[in-house]
Amino acid sequence: MKVNRVYTRGEGPSTMMRLSIGIAAALLATSMVPVDATRAVVTADPRTDLRVGPGTEYNRITVLPPGITLPAEGPEEDFYRVPLNPLLHGWVAQDQVRALDPSQPPPAVQPLRDISVQGTDQGTVATLNIPEPVPFRVRQRIQPPALILDLFGVRLARYGVRQFPSDLATSTIEAEQIADGWAQITFHLNFDQQRGWRVVQQDGSLRLLIRRPYEGGSLAGKVIVIDPGHGGPDSGAVGPTGVRESDVNLRVARELAAILQQRGAVPRMLRTGDTTVGEGPYSRRGELEARLAASEQPDADFFLSIHNNAVGSGRAATVQGTETYYWTPMSALPARILQDHQCAALGTHNRFISWRPFYVLRHGDMPRVLVECAFVSNPAEEQRMKSEEFARAAALGLADGLEEFFRRAAGER
Ligand SMILES: [Zn+2]
Repeated sequence: MKVNRVYTRGEGPSTMMRLSIGIAAALLATSMVPVDATRAVVTADPRTDLRVGPGTEYNRITVLPPGITLPAEGPEEDFYRVPLNPLLHGWVAQDQVRALDPSQPPPAVQPLRDISVQGTDQGTVATLNIPEPVPFRVRQRIQPPALILDLFGVRLARYGVRQFPSDLATSTIEAEQIADGWAQITFHLNFDQQRGWRVVQQDGSLRLLIRRPYEGGSLAGKVIVIDPGHGGPDSGAVGPTGVRESDVNLRVARELAAILQQRGAVPRMLRTGDTTVGEGPYSRRGELEARLAASEQPDADFFLSIHNNAVGSGRAATVQGTETYYWTPMSALPARILQDHQCAALGTHNRFISWRPFYVLRHGDMPRVLVECAFVSNPAEEQRMKSEEFARAAALGLADGLEEFFRRAAGER
């Protein structure tokens, strides 16, 4: 395996300089603490939401895994204020974190001394030498294609640009200090259609996996995670004559799995009966987390959540058609293709494709799309859902859409 380094140890700051950075950081951390105000909390929820304001109605800056120490002030009305750096602060809910002893100082600024990249079977792994786990954010850019990694509470030992002509995924890495305690690393990518990323922080380093681009241009061998929406105690929407959304979603998902298998793909259903995916007592959030956790399969190529729609009874007679949702930029193209194929296969009204941060769509490990095939609240569409023809047509549209997506992702027209 070839290892390319951005900052080699030899080229980094001298031991003396590192020591003085460390001392300066420690002094800064101590001097910035108003007594009894800034303290430290540790993320404890499977996905801790760092938001732009103190309430769940505010947008997320990022979603963090457990075990990351954050500086925090408060709490006030169930939220801590999190000073990420002098330019940016976020808010985190009290029930998603564990407070450390108030006498403990907030986390010290971490130095980033070294970035290396290495090609693996799964893609390119960028290893960033940062002693302690830090809050981070990853954003995708489509044009020109890039992954942008923001590191909070981090100071670059050196910054600039390095090029890696032989790496499959990233040709150029740019490192920039946006503000004190805010480092930004841009990985310029060699391909348009991204397949996903993962971050792991342990043993003194942060590793970012940039998944290798799609190959082959067909469904053969592609692992598709299928999420039939709702199930068990949650029926989803119910139509005017009692058709349950959860049953329709499952029928479409079963048909889709059968078609995908015939075409050489590897479908993986999150549920195959009228059940929940999570175990134990049902809660909406718990069930969503169980579905997301079950869908995070390292070899999966695509996540598809199947739903059917509803509106209040006053509009049931007039609102009908197909909608598709996505969140990450890499999911935009497949969302459009899936929407078009569903409408063609079902003959439904093409309502819209929309950007929505649904729980199962927010994650960046692969493209993730949620489809709403038709309206169970609409009497005519509900009637069609009772027939085998509906599930078969919806599934064919989705299979054709996935096939076209993989063809285009691999660069074949
Ligand atoms: Zn639903």
